[in-house]
Amino acid sequence: MSHSTILDYLDNPSPRTLGRSPLEWLDRMLKPTVVRVAGRDRSRTRAMATLLHGNEPSGLFALHRWLLEQHTPEVNMLFLIGGVFPAKIPPTFSRRQLPGGRDLNRCFKEPFEGEEGRIAEAMLAELHNAQPECLLDVHNTSGTGPAFAVTITNDAAHQALASLYTERLIMTDLRLGALMEYSEQEVPTVTIECGGAQDEHAHQLAYEGLVRYTSGADVLSLEKAEWDVVVLRNPIRVELAPEATIEYRLEPSGRADITLPPDIEHRNFGTVAPGEPLGWVGEKGLGVLTAIGHNRTENVEKVLRVKNGQIYPAQAIKTFMITTNPLIAKSDCLFYAVKASGEPIF
Ligand SMILES: [Zn+2]
Repeated sequence: MSHSTILDYLDNPSPRTLGRSPLEWLDRMLKPTVVRVAGRDRSRTRAMATLLHGNEPSGLFALHRWLLEQHTPEVNMLFLIGGVFPAKIPPTFSRRQLPGGRDLNRCFKEPFEGEEGRIAEAMLAELHNAQPECLLDVHNTSGTGPAFAVTITNDAAHQALASLYTERLIMTDLRLGALMEYSEQEVPTVTIECGGAQDEHAHQLAYEGLVRYTSGADVLSLEKAEWDVVVLRNPIRVELAPEATIEYRLEPSGRADITLPPDIEHRNFGTVAPGEPLGWVGEKGLGVLTAIGHNRTENVEKVLRVKNGQIYPAQAIKTFMITTNPLIAKSDCLFYAVKASGEPIF
């Protein structure tokens, strides 16, 4: 088997190799790392990626705990630990990506440029070699909030994988170069958002999901699913213009283009009625916001409307992945939305 120089490899690591804590283990990692654990059935492999974002440690914490416990998985396991470099920058687990670097989870498509592109390409080569029957990519959300899964394909296998962790599955047609697009290789692939990076519940869920993922004889059939899965289809992304400003305050200061209340995260997965205000616009109105649907820009006024400087939903909507981190709001998106019924707005 060919080995990449971009990655380090650990086969069936012993507790001594792993250190006593995830931090000790991370300290010992010098590169993005591949961990392989032999299963009872050696003819099959399941894969899991995690730490693609260096500030989202739940998956690594879960993996460290699971490896220390020295389980024998049902099938061979291939673990890919991506964002070792940003995660190691002090304070540990505080950086999504390297300063000046790219978001690794936008690099799983050609051209594989720069350091992150080469890491993504090497990870894809590992998947290609291992031919896993399925792939999970375990993340944390940027704020707090409940866990959910994301997929580009909504079928029984993807729902069954999601149900190892959560009952909420978001299906999107957006293509961003994320690892979950590996689903297009006929390998069921689901992104798991475990909840907030600081949230003990998120770490626990990542661990419990990993135990289910590694111990089940069949993780791809829906009859064995833990929960009924609610599917939210093709959410639109509401993005903030790059030059726009945002503040999280109880009242607008008059300086920002968009103001959202600091507790806006409570809206995650809740239904917002047309009469309920979401926040405030500045002088530029809704012009600083863009609604991105199926790979194209849609009319933001079908999602939001403004009355007396306040933002309301244009119809009853369900909002999620709302961030209160202004950096994420500017570099990624403000929130996602579907109709209250779970159907797409566009
Ligand atoms: Zn992430």
